[in-house]
Amino acid sequence: MNKEKTYCLATNNQHKVEELQQMLGGIFELKTLADIGCQDEIEEIESTLEGNSLLKARYIFDRYGINCIADDSGLEVNALNGEPGVFSARYAGEPSNPENNMAKLLSKLESFDDKSASFRTSITLIENGEVRQFEGIVKGEIIAEKRGSGGFGYDPIFIPEGLSKTFAEMSPEEKNPISHRGLAIAKLIDYLKK
Ligand code: IMP
Repeated sequence: MNKEKTYCLATNNQHKVEELQQMLGGIFELKTLADIGCQDEIEEIESTLEGNSLLKARYIFDRYGINCIADDSGLEVNALNGEPGVFSARYAGEPSNPENNMAKLLSKLESFDDKSASFRTSITLIENGEVRQFEGIVKGEIIAEKRGSGGFGYDPIFIPEGLSKTFAEMSPEEKNPISHRGLAIAKLIDYLKK
């Protein structure tokens, strides 16, 4: 393994680490926050996904001096001026509760005809102090009745444009290549492999 190509993924979500490690094809080494001895709760206080992914990457790079990858994702509903956006995880308050978040969103959206929305991911890479950002977007619409039991978060009420299944009705193999996160990761990997 090429140690110059070691990155910290600014998360303690083992699933995210394994997914990215697999996609990186073993050419790069990924470390978690735990691996680098970081137990800090990095507060996401910015007002944009880009701001939050940058904040997390910069926090790690500045304190630990390791090349770093951080991500932030959210659902942006057009009729609600981009809500819940950076508040997606805690839309109905803390602790994070997907059922309450979906209920709040559906009730706010009920009176609007425009049900269009997008999931968006911002990934920030800081490599030797240089910052680069990668974006993934999937457009779609919100439905009033939840469908499917897979996935997480708002998946049961989101149907990607041109398709008929919700994200929660898709297998990971169906969802990942078209999802906001999958698209952003693909751009990152393209860049890293060059
Ligand atoms: P994170 O930045 O990946 O932790 O995502 C923040 C929040 O956005 C999650 O807690 C979910 O509420 C929502 N979210 C992000 N990605 C997805 C997705 O693929 N499906 C459903 N909800 C998502």
